[in-house]
Amino acid sequence: MPEGGVGHYVGAGQIARADHAECDAQVAGIVAYHERNGYRRGGAYNEHVCQHGGRWLHYTGPNQATGNTWANLNLHAVCAVIGSDDVPTPALLTAMRAAWDEAGGGGWITPHSYWFQTACCGDPLRAWIAAGAPAPGGPAPGPTHRRHNGMTILWINFNSAVYAYLVAGDLTIIKGFDGPTGAYGFPQSALNFAQATNCGMVQMNGAEWKRLLEKNGLV
Ligand SMILES: [Zn+2]
Ligand SMILES: [Zn+2]
Repeated sequence: MPEGGVGHYVGAGQIARADHAECDAQVAGIVAYHERNGYRRGGAYNEHVCQHGGRWLHYTGPNQATGNTWANLNLHAVCAVIGSDDVPTPALLTAMRAAWDEAGGGGWITPHSYWFQTACCGDPLRAWIAAGAPAPGGPAPGPTHRRHNGMTILWINFNSAVYAYLVAGDLTIIKGFDGPTGAYGFPQSALNFAQATNCGMVQMNGAEWKRLLEKNGLV
């Protein structure tokens, strides 16, 4: 069962087809392109969805979509077959929500850009996901409280500044926190993340800090 879902779009170079009869071939073309370029059988994404509500589930489990090992192993990756200038339709949003829910990852949805520096999955889908990715016409999603299995926010006070990182159990940095500080001088974004995910925050000692930097190639 995935820990959550990730939203993607095809983006630049692709345009959603007006005629649904053409979507099968478009999706097959994307998958074939991935396979030719060294991705696993079935392509980078677990699933595609189109503007007409069509869905193509290629496989479940580990994917190659998100540029982040933990996310690829643990999150159901759904790609909207839209380009950068296409506005997602209600049928697409409904299909995307159903794709995550049926895979078991509907409780926690993030855009690709949460994990990796990218414009994916575009501003309209990102805004929708930030609002909880509700099914159009459906009930508003409830608050999600998910624990990041095996993940912790580690922090250190160094030269009077607090540094905070979400790390996997092997000290791989998943995400850094910065921005305005809140209680105890922590970045408010780290406090919000810990509260929303029930993720623990633990202070690092100097040796752990050194290991974290080395492990992630930051020194
Ligand atoms: Zn993406
Ligand atoms: Zn279609």
